[in-house]
Amino acid sequence: MIQPLVFKFGGASIKDAASIINIAQLVKKRWTNGLVLVVSAAGNTTDRLEQLIELSLENKRFDRQLLELLTYHEDLCRGLFSPGHAIFSRVDNHFAQLHRLLETPSLKTEEGFFYDQIIGYGELISTRILQEYLCETGNPCIWQDARELVRTDSTTRMARVDWALTMQHCRRILIPKLEKFPVVTQGFIGTDLLGNTTTLGREGSDFTAAILGVSLGASAVTIWKDVAGILNGDPDIFPDAVKFDYLDFEEAAEMTYYGAKVIHPKTIKPLAKHGIPLYVKSFVNPEMAGTVIGSFGQAPRIPITIFKSNLTMINLRIRDLSMVGGFHFEFVYEAAKKANWRIQLIQASGAHLQVVIQDMPLSEEQLARPFREVFHVQIRRQLQMVTVKNPTEAAVKHYRQVAEKCFLEQKTPELVQWIYEPETP
Ligand code: ASP
Ligand code: MG
Repeated sequence: MIQPLVFKFGGASIKDAASIINIAQLVKKRWTNGLVLVVSAAGNTTDRLEQLIELSLENKRFDRQLLELLTYHEDLCRGLFSPGHAIFSRVDNHFAQLHRLLETPSLKTEEGFFYDQIIGYGELISTRILQEYLCETGNPCIWQDARELVRTDSTTRMARVDWALTMQHCRRILIPKLEKFPVVTQGFIGTDLLGNTTTLGREGSDFTAAILGVSLGASAVTIWKDVAGILNGDPDIFPDAVKFDYLDFEEAAEMTYYGAKVIHPKTIKPLAKHGIPLYVKSFVNPEMAGTVIGSFGQAPRIPITIFKSNLTMINLRIRDLSMVGGFHFEFVYEAAKKANWRIQLIQASGAHLQVVIQDMPLSEEQLARPFREVFHVQIRRQLQMVTVKNPTEAAVKHYRQVAEKCFLEQKTPELVQWIYEPETP
């Protein structure tokens, strides 16, 4: 019987040959049957693929950008393998396929579909490189196409996971392989029932790690990052931010909802449901303890500050005052659900409702339309939110100033949030 264990590595951890050598050393020290490595695209490859997709959709030339991306991967391989190694032709083949797809007009009829067929190449290539390198340096392991494992619906760019089917495939395909060797696979990609490639949303590789962790009944999932663990504020903004040694699932889920970027928001829920601990550790200092997210109950009351941007505030003022008193809430929830809004925060008073949502690629008119019949609608975009959890007096004073142009304040003894217009630099 093997005890599966999932490690996830993001783009920054494999951005060049030296980084891959570091990761390989880290993994080798922890080498065990049952180990699944979930890997993102190298460096900023996914951003560059998005650019290529954009150019191709606009029927513009993309040869230079494609060549640059190929050269980047070839350089990476040159730092790891001797000339003439089979990996070079493998990478070339992937790029040839990529080129062909980018030039296939029939794929472009639906932009989201086109995107999904192309964007995962970063992961397909990076996992080949890492797997070959591990094998080459004495640690045999198996390359696995994640699309055989992660089954989804056909929603483009943000597919929903079919858990039952995914678990079945993991048990049938992955477990027998893990009984022989550790496995290297891609984050971010899956397949729908028609066999087409789907994706789980940007930064979705963390989620893949959780999906595989749950499907395999893993003992733990570890996300290896360039930070020491989960901190109580962004270290770029707060030099004296402190690391949590442990964090409850609920608290971690809340932090991602308020905008903390350390882990993908969808990652926590499935792990919490199955009681699988999530470690966030540093690939720069792998011996350090990092943060463990698990079922710990109440966390220590440390002030936490989180920023979130790209929010839209929709101010609704009721037209017919006889509706005040409940019905207008229902109306808003129903309409928001239909419009697929991701609600961040709601504040209500008498005839007014302020709904803050994550921005969507829609015009103001499109956003307002479902509500006009019942409300006067006013929309503000490009807003920011700062959340202070377990606030101290000093913190409240400070952030009230940061949020100088504040449109909304929400306050409980445990939490203060301001929605404001960020200063334009
Ligand atoms: N490579 C994908 C992205 O950059 C997925 C991930 O890294 O999690 O969004
Ligand atoms: Mg990435």
